[in-house]
Amino acid sequence: MTRPARLVLLGHPVAHSLSPRFQQAALDAAGIPLRYEALDVPPARLADVLGRLAVESAAGNVTIPHKEAVHAQCATLTEVARRTGAVNAFRADAAGLHGHNTDVGGVDAAVRRLIGDPTGARVVVLGAGGAAAATLVAAATWRAARVTVLNRTVARAHALVGRVGIGETADHEAALADADLVVNATSVGLHDDAHPAPLGELSAGAAVLDLVYRRGETGWVRDARASGRRAADGTGMLLEQGALAFEWWLGVPPDREVMRRALEG
Ligand code: NAP
Repeated sequence: MTRPARLVLLGHPVAHSLSPRFQQAALDAAGIPLRYEALDVPPARLADVLGRLAVESAAGNVTIPHKEAVHAQCATLTEVARRTGAVNAFRADAAGLHGHNTDVGGVDAAVRRLIGDPTGARVVVLGAGGAAAATLVAAATWRAARVTVLNRTVARAHALVGRVGIGETADHEAALADADLVVNATSVGLHDDAHPAPLGELSAGAAVLDLVYRRGETGWVRDARASGRRAADGTGMLLEQGALAFEWWLGVPPDREVMRRALEG
């Protein structure tokens, strides 16, 4: 495998991103002489920047708002990227852009860490955007799991279920009360302590996975844990999607402990 000449993060904005911090720590620990650069790319400049990165044999990550646009620009896609409809990791060469989606592996790892084997789990996914799509594509590999998607805009939930080809949409309260696992894939709780779903509507044994992460965890995760439930925020997913991307770009696994320490530092 040819090592990329540059590693970049494409987003708008990117200043808040934690990826440079933990990716650089892993690169340094592995002795790989690359700098992980965060590039703030407004949508109108994306095509130009992608063209230049292809000439430069770059690789990198993609974040909000470019994941779907980069997916549309790729010459080749991995199966998970194709199914998710979004790209969060890419490599570029003379043949063009090659897209992957490691959010899927990231959410899969976070679920397994929280509840163990998800076989047969009744899962409610809140949201119908990119993070929800990654969760559904992961859930498609969980044998006999039953997945329900709830979203503020119901039509988007229907469209997502139809596009990915798994799950169903249902009545809000009934689905929450039956769930073994509730995954927040909305942006609720990103800037305040709002709950994406009332904890009182969940069964006492339900586990809560919030894909949102904030310093000090989200209000939903803190309150779920205080009510005796298993709960985790999006930090585990963030770290694992980054670790999987690192290995896909560079052909060697990163030191995840180094990444974790950099993320927490
Ligand atoms: P997105 O495509 O913009 O989707 C946002 C979702 O949130 C939509 O379903 C939207 O519903 C819903 N939503 C927004 N405001 C809401 C509100 N006030 N009440 C109810 N629903 C609301 O975003 P995304 O890329 O899927 O990301 C969603 C969140 O996941 C992000 O905030 C990010 O924190 C997190 N995330 C984490 C990781 C990680 O590595 N941990 C990776 C990716 C994303 P409508 O359809 O009705 O607008």
